Amino acid sequence: MLEQQDIFGFDNRRTIQADLDRVLMMAFGRALDVSGLMPMAVMNLMANAFGTLYRQVADHHQNQLCPCGWQPASAQDIELLKSALEAAARWEPADKLLAMPALGRA
Ligand SMILES: [Zn+2]
Repeated sequence: MLEQQDIFGFDNRRTIQADLDRVLMMAFGRALDVSGLMPMAVMNLMANAFGTLYRQVADHHQNQLCPCGWQPASAQDIELLKSALEAAARWEPADKLLAMPALGRA
């Protein structure tokens, strides 16, 4: 799977990430407004939805219904996803963020 990710350039991955971030933020805001639930309750539902998405895509590939060649390795895949979630969600102290090199310009 990593080889397939490399066919996308860095800018293309950033664009895809930004698009997914925007769509998920809109879904989160809508769910929060409609449900009246607390933010963590909505995030828990979103995490459940993401896990379900993984399961459905993995099942689809295990049944060889997709020609892309990805072969799910559920235990490894789930560890990778957990690591990505943890890294993205971890709070970083402001002084550490200020020490990071700037990437790009605003
Ligand atoms: Zn596929």
